[in-house]
Amino acid sequence: MKALVAVKRVVDYNVKVRVKADGSDVDITNVKMSMNPFDEIAVEEAVRQKEAGHLTEVVAVSLGTKQCEETLRTALAMGADRAIHVETEDPLPPLTVAKILKAVAEQEKPDLVFLGKQAIDDDANQTAQMLAGLLHAPQATFASQVQIKDHEVWVTREIDGGTETLALTLPAVISTDLRLNEPRYIKLPNIMQAKRKPLHKQTPQELNVQTNAQLQMVSVAEPKNRKAGIKVADVAELVARLRDEAKVI
Ligand code: AMP
Repeated sequence: MKALVAVKRVVDYNVKVRVKADGSDVDITNVKMSMNPFDEIAVEEAVRQKEAGHLTEVVAVSLGTKQCEETLRTALAMGADRAIHVETEDPLPPLTVAKILKAVAEQEKPDLVFLGKQAIDDDANQTAQMLAGLLHAPQATFASQVQIKDHEVWVTREIDGGTETLALTLPAVISTDLRLNEPRYIKLPNIMQAKRKPLHKQTPQELNVQTNAQLQMVSVAEPKNRKAGIKVADVAELVARLRDEAKVI
């Protein structure tokens, strides 16, 4: 049984992002980039399922510029068996990503496709759902537990006030939530091993997918600066300030 795991290269979650002077995008010059945290959880889950004997192969896939190779090497160091890099400089909105992943899935025929529930750069939370739609495959989003059975996969999801468990026939698409697992720490020997694992290159054109985007990012802006708060001495002062200054009571 094979799993395909989609991993995106994004600005590291510890970085405080800056907006470009012309407001056209986030400035990523000299900024630390890492694997999207939810995708790390997706890789970890697939590797754990392989270690438990439920999967025989884990294939990581990333779409984007040449530097995505680093992200794929991280996935390989975590335990993925091989990697596919669909290389392009073009912008990749979720529908384009979903179309490319569909083409890769048709080529690889995985039993399970794991994605993160959202990429922390665009916060779109769309790709897994669109991919499932394009593949006509069942989907379980925001997985907090995954159990692979003979011909199906059981996925537990956190919902308002509790959990829900779904049984999906295979092949299926799963998006991962924060509490699914804690990704492993990568050791040096794993990094060395990862350098020897296969990394196959393709282009969207080879997969017959057009990358002409249907949506365009018009502008990016930082949140407005908020005034610093003040400490009041007592309730009387609080009431006075709310009445006389803020004029809300
Ligand atoms: P989004 O819908 O953009 O929030 O992304 C959800 C998930 O889709 C991510 O967590 C990744 O698993 C996958 N994904 C999005 N963009 C890419 C990409 N360029 N390369 C690989 N996977 C991606």
